[in-house]
Amino acid sequence: MPTLIWFRQDLRISDHAALWHASRHSACLALVILSPQQWQQHDDAPIKLDFYLRQLRELQQQLQHYNIPLMVQVVPLWQEIAPVLLELCQRFQIQQVHANVELGIHELQRDKHCQDVLAQVKIQLELYQDRTLFPVGSIRNQSGQPYQVFTPFKKNCYERLNLQLPACYPEIAIQTSVPFELTPQEQQIPELHELGYDAIPTEQQQLWTIGESHAQQQLDDFLEDALADYKQQRDFPAQAGTSQLSAYLNIGILSIRQCVQALFRLQQGQFLLTDEGQQTWLDELLWREFYQHILFDYPQVSKHLPFQPKTQQLAWRDDPEGLAAWQQGQTGIPIVDAGMRQLLATGWMHNRVRMICAMFLTKNLLIDWRKGEQWFMQHLIDGDLAANNGGWQWSASTGTDAAPYFRIFNPISQSEKFDPNGDYIRRWVPELKSLDDKTIHEPYAKGYKAGLGYPKAIVDLKSSRVRAIEAFKALG
Ligand code: FAD
Repeated sequence: MPTLIWFRQDLRISDHAALWHASRHSACLALVILSPQQWQQHDDAPIKLDFYLRQLRELQQQLQHYNIPLMVQVVPLWQEIAPVLLELCQRFQIQQVHANVELGIHELQRDKHCQDVLAQVKIQLELYQDRTLFPVGSIRNQSGQPYQVFTPFKKNCYERLNLQLPACYPEIAIQTSVPFELTPQEQQIPELHELGYDAIPTEQQQLWTIGESHAQQQLDDFLEDALADYKQQRDFPAQAGTSQLSAYLNIGILSIRQCVQALFRLQQGQFLLTDEGQQTWLDELLWREFYQHILFDYPQVSKHLPFQPKTQQLAWRDDPEGLAAWQQGQTGIPIVDAGMRQLLATGWMHNRVRMICAMFLTKNLLIDWRKGEQWFMQHLIDGDLAANNGGWQWSASTGTDAAPYFRIFNPISQSEKFDPNGDYIRRWVPELKSLDDKTIHEPYAKGYKAGLGYPKAIVDLKSSRVRAIEAFKALG
């Protein structure tokens, strides 16, 4: 009986749970469903969608080697998918559909609906946990409850890794028969503009090379060249001190198991932490894991609700001008503007600067974290509901394990500490290029003359800090 492998945010061939299961049968057809209206509703960034479509073309070619044709369907909204899937299964006499679980609430509803519709005619939709190291719902504290704080969650993960590192799936077999007749139209992957989005400029595309082998190489290079110094370098945005693999992990060009296996390759896959770089990078991968598990256990976070219910009452300010200045990198705080401009120019922002920008918006401007979360999602190439929401709620002090509300980053001190020579600022805020290493962090306070086209700070950092603390105190 032929099977169907339904690709989602998992555009790779190696170490792919659903593909491996689907390809064990005699003939396998691959499917991808593009849902532009749903993407709009989820604020997916055009640069991320473009990256997805480019990778999809590569995947289609690679699947040919395994005799697995890829069929492309455009179904604007997920609620319309079930009948399309049913028709397809009936046309090709497919009895089993295999897919990897996606953890957002709409994704889970979509899959439940598809499962119910297919079950009526005895077709199974088999779902696999592939996006996380450990199945969601499986990491529990001693009372059987999900963790709400990272450190004990991490400790539990360490114990499990110590027992066994999750292994990668073996390479899939080449299919021996291809009993599927697809029209060229059905195999055509549309361009981004055909799905209602503006095309992405070539120079932006060139920043993000697609391909599994490219991602694997980037992982290997990072582990070889940068891991040893990762703990020291990862907070300095002018350095290439982090892996820059988030976009690849996000659409599944790379799997989380592949990252962890590569991290322990030198120890032949044994959980042996030999240096701080190795441990610190593992911890970052576990932050990713933590937020995925939170998304599953606390679905309110995907409904625009704060993790801590009492912060729902916080008196956020309505400040469209402040928001626009922040979005465009025109706040007059150089490190914030550098980060926001890096985001617009590349679709990516360094983690330290993400935290600084998010805290500036939610504390100094006292603007609702959901507005920042949305803007990031609309522009990030690695935009991921779980990680983005987690990062925003941490910065806004509304989330799990959040920064205490009175511990507010001073963006100038952060800038002086983590961009000491101003190199990162110079790169993204060319108006300030000629300033010396000290003046560049706070130009107007240190004698910068107006007229070079850089704005004055839109908010006073001291008084706005007090205002934010008062707003949180008022919650009781
Ligand atoms: P590395 O430092 O090399 O880390 C390796 C991997 O670990 C990353 O690729 C990522 O998958 C994961 N990771 C690292 N830090 C975190 C973290 N704090 N939370 C969750 N996962 C982490 N990450 C996203 O992947 N998508 C997002 O939409 C996203 N939005 C964020 C929003 C805010 C406000 C903040 C503060 C952080 C956000 N992050 C997000 C987390 C983090 O900034 C990025 O994962 C990281 O900058 C990616 O760079 P890298 O691949 O070089 O990371």
